[in-house]
Amino acid sequence: MTDLVTRRLRVYGIVQGVGFRPTVSRHAAASGIHGTVCNFGPYVEILVQGTEQACDDFRMRLERQPPRRASILKIDEQTLEDAPEYPDFSIIESGKTRGEIFVSPDIAICEDCEREMFDPKDRRYLHPFINCTCCGPRLTILDALPYDRERTSMKEFPMCPDCAAEYYDPATRRYDAQPVCCPDCGPQVYLLGSREKGRDAITAARRTILAGEIAAIKGIGGFHLCCDATNRDAVSRLRTLKTRPAKPFAVMLRDMETVRRECFVTPAQEKILTGHQKPILLLKKRPGGLLAEAVAPDNPYVGVMLPYAPIHLLLFRYDDGITMPDCLVMTSGNVSGAPICREDRDVEQEILGFCDTVLSHDRKIRIRADDSVMDFYRDRPYMIRRSRGYAPLPVMVSRGWKGQVLAVGGELKNTFCVGVNDLFYPSPYVGDLEDIRTVEALEETIGRLETLLEAEPKAVACDLHPRYNSTLVAEKQGLPLLPVQHHYAHVLTCMAENDCFDPVIGLSFDGTGYGTDGTIWGGEILLSDLDGFRRLGSIAPFSQVGGDSSSREGWRIAVSMIRGLTGNAEDALELVKQLDLCGEQQARAILTMAGKNINTVQSTSMGRLFDAVSAILGIRRASTFEGEAATVLQFRAEAANRTPKKWTSTLDADLEGRMILNTADLVRSLVDRRLAGEDPCDLALDFHSALADMALEACRRAREETGVETAALTGGCYQNRLLLELTESRLETAGFRVLTHRLIPPNDGGIGLGQAVYAMHRMQT
Ligand code: ZN
Ligand code: ZN
Ligand code: FE
Repeated sequence: MTDLVTRRLRVYGIVQGVGFRPTVSRHAAASGIHGTVCNFGPYVEILVQGTEQACDDFRMRLERQPPRRASILKIDEQTLEDAPEYPDFSIIESGKTRGEIFVSPDIAICEDCEREMFDPKDRRYLHPFINCTCCGPRLTILDALPYDRERTSMKEFPMCPDCAAEYYDPATRRYDAQPVCCPDCGPQVYLLGSREKGRDAITAARRTILAGEIAAIKGIGGFHLCCDATNRDAVSRLRTLKTRPAKPFAVMLRDMETVRRECFVTPAQEKILTGHQKPILLLKKRPGGLLAEAVAPDNPYVGVMLPYAPIHLLLFRYDDGITMPDCLVMTSGNVSGAPICREDRDVEQEILGFCDTVLSHDRKIRIRADDSVMDFYRDRPYMIRRSRGYAPLPVMVSRGWKGQVLAVGGELKNTFCVGVNDLFYPSPYVGDLEDIRTVEALEETIGRLETLLEAEPKAVACDLHPRYNSTLVAEKQGLPLLPVQHHYAHVLTCMAENDCFDPVIGLSFDGTGYGTDGTIWGGEILLSDLDGFRRLGSIAPFSQVGGDSSSREGWRIAVSMIRGLTGNAEDALELVKQLDLCGEQQARAILTMAGKNINTVQSTSMGRLFDAVSAILGIRRASTFEGEAATVLQFRAEAANRTPKKWTSTLDADLEGRMILNTADLVRSLVDRRLAGEDPCDLALDFHSALADMALEACRRAREETGVETAALTGGCYQNRLLLELTESRLETAGFRVLTHRLIPPNDGGIGLGQAVYAMHRMQT
């Protein structure tokens, strides 16, 4: 048998819990090779024995037809000498090694399982926990790796003989599917605080929703609050109960047909909507849809997802004779600022007052996973909130780094990040750390993810802000602490996502972050590389009266900006009156404080500039949720009916020679033109366009000075598609290479990655 060769393939990527080994067995049979396949923590190892040609054929099949849910990052191949001869191809039980580990995110129900669930002859007919080797919960039920049932929250549910038979038989769809179960052996749904279980509980929840009431539904990563999205009264009541007057609710629509009825959707968007991650997608509403206006008031877009857990499908379709609405509000079941509820106890303590019934179940959620939220930019996904379905897939860079770090992330929209060598694992969404419950969730989730990844960080990165709760959590880790300036972290995130670490001109256009000079930053131009940054420039500094507590009240910023423009209180007061920004007393109070510098900080926050301009143009004086005024400003600009005017007064310099984007002149001109009666939509458009003109000029100047030709567009303001498109296209025309975000959010949900990359770089040497 001299023509037999033996090769060892190590396959890295998402290879656990995705039906990898059965697929490998099938390919082995088709190629006529012998050998073994075994799951190690970080990789799957395949010993391939056969003729040269058969081995090549096997590898080709593996690469061309990987398991549907797998994601192969790389294959290491080595030829083995003196290997024993294998009699067949077999699957070896899990070994366990330490190292780079890939934890699969949760996977939406697959078509095969959906078909079985609605097949009256199937033994899992209408079973709310149906799953298989290529679908079902993963991260949210995991205790440790390797991914085996005893290390998940399914260990409380011993398999019945029928399920066990499927689980152990490589020929079935449920071979090695850890959460496999059936109505006899699996978890159960029930109504909280009542005796109703199983079928009765599902029917009761459906009745509640149909009647225009509100149900809490336990899904994969936590509870949703759910009501009929076509029922105005139901949606309004949910708004009142949640004290959420205007922030858009996401909706779950029954199927693609319903999505097409309610929204405009491109083929690329449809692919994401129906894919196995099932994020919430921001889609443009179609006129004449059935969704209540109160779902996303005064908003041309709505966040849409398709059912992803079996229980969601059962809410729409069941055999109880009830006809359900095809659009449901599905908003996170939490009190504003707190983490999403995951246990009955959380529901009882926090959201019981918001809902008329609670459909729960007894499969425990180990790690919360909020729904991911995605926009589209240039017909490609553009992540806004990265969580269920994506976390904790790693971002891979090619630096050859060694070591382990933790980065705790930012204060708002917190996600943290664990770095292991060249792999960076952003966590699921944690939330706003102003709430102590969220801080606790952060600490718990850090512990869980470190366990899953078997990571023992040797350093911890955090924000530069000394009093952030995230900073306190970082200090408690007892590791060397590496504070990273907020907007620099944004730039590093953008660089890491693009695996580009050459120096860049970072445009970090953002809400607020603590600057190295103790002032508030947020509209920054930072020449950045891994070693550090130089602040090349910023927008024009302005006074923020009332500190950052004014962050939701753009009119306050507008008043103090106007004070800065006029140089005196009397003229400012006159303009404030003409613009109808606020009452005279309120205005006088702010003007006095601004004049005397009481309770006033210097700021270059781009986010606050957007809020102020929104107020000046009479679009939104204040926001009821973060970003509202700025978002509506964008919508008005997108509704403008002409092309933008070119802005020429772009750059100034400060005393130290830094570039100052001339936003003060811009605001002055917007005030004048607004008072001259120009259309606010046109002015909103010109504002966006002028910012892009300024950014272009600043980048040109920076390129002349430094020779750097790459620009990175990052920060929460680049959630604004219009600003992004205007800026990117101008930069491209001027010959810049432009880095933008794609699957890591441009907002504070992304900065953990940048922090981690910084810490990892510092650990080398
Ligand atoms: Zn399935
Ligand atoms: Zn069973
Ligand atoms: Fe930020």
